Amino acid sequence: MDIRYFDHAATTAVKEEVLKEMLPYFSINYGNASSIYSIGRNSKRALDNARMQVAMALNCSPKEIYFTGCGSESDNIALKGIAYANKHKGNHIITSKIEHPAILNTCKTLEKEGFIVTYLNVDENGFISIDELKAAITNKTILISIMFANNEIGTIQPIKEIGEIARLKQIYFHTDAVQAVGNVKIDVKEMGIDLLSMSAHKFYGPKGVGALYVKEGINFNKLQDGGHQEKDKRAGTENVAGIVGLGKAIEIAYRNFDKYNEKLTTLRDYYISQVEKKIPEVKLNGDRTKRLPGNANISFKGIEGESLLLNLDMKGICASSGSACSTGSLNPSHVLMAIGLPHEIAHGSLRTTFGDENTREDIDYLVESLVEIVAKLRDMSPMWK
Ligand SMILES: *Cc1c(COP(=O)(O)O)cnc(C)c1O
Repeated sequence: MDIRYFDHAATTAVKEEVLKEMLPYFSINYGNASSIYSIGRNSKRALDNARMQVAMALNCSPKEIYFTGCGSESDNIALKGIAYANKHKGNHIITSKIEHPAILNTCKTLEKEGFIVTYLNVDENGFISIDELKAAITNKTILISIMFANNEIGTIQPIKEIGEIARLKQIYFHTDAVQAVGNVKIDVKEMGIDLLSMSAHKFYGPKGVGALYVKEGINFNKLQDGGHQEKDKRAGTENVAGIVGLGKAIEIAYRNFDKYNEKLTTLRDYYISQVEKKIPEVKLNGDRTKRLPGNANISFKGIEGESLLLNLDMKGICASSGSACSTGSLNPSHVLMAIGLPHEIAHGSLRTTFGDENTREDIDYLVESLVEIVAKLRDMSPMWK
């Protein structure tokens, strides 16, 4: 059976072109980037090149890019690194209720250490309120961390407006852009972003490598002691092959940006319109247009998300009922709760995230399968009629 993959927000396959760039750094160019002989210098050059590729995509300087082990690590360094380095100035952090666990759980740790965290509400489409943000700022606020785009419902926040407020109040602004990189155009200067997290495996690069942008002049504490790699901020021999993959993947993403964006937007809108036309009692979660180009999150009334996923899996379809990170728990997703969905509607939600290899024919197969499965499950459901 063919696999139809609609879970690109969970991870993506490494592109052929990316893999080809990476391979020599596992074997031929295996030198340690800190060594002065030729194969070491080759690795150093590869790191410099990747840093340049990331900097070009974000409109920043390569000096402002730090490679990490994943998106979660970038988020941890951003929040803890800024909090620890600035605790003499204040102990207050502002974030939102719909962040990824990499942010929310880091905030919980910081709260145990005496930091105060404000979790902003979001409206029914998942947007924070600029007024609520302004009102939450105190003279103890040192950091605002608001995700660029949500991993479950795809909502894209008003990043530039948040950046302006942060700049005006001289508060650092971090954004978890793990879902946005490759899907949204990002200019850290124009948007007033001080720190930004990304992860290669969300944009057709390898797993286990991320990056953190930190604006020049901003001090942050390192979380790991050891060698002096990454300007003494992230000890450990660099994952050269992985970093080369991240650099190549981001270069390809922004080289093909317009075409890719248009393709995903078309597939997404086609999917949403087909589901709305062919299946009664459905609800689109998140904003209809200010959302990630490949993200659709739809609740099916009277359906259990887990049964839906199992039935789709039997048809070779990969999708998600919420965030992959919370799969296995019975609580409805914190994001769907935050946008005010009743429990029973939240439980019947399906996240499909489209990507490069998907076609219109894949979407037709998905919609046909959903029509059949939803009708079957509703027939069996005591929650339905
Ligand atoms: C996937 C994801 C992360 C975590 O990235 P990893 O590289 O898997 O650690 C963080 N934030 C968001 C929004 C994500 O989608």
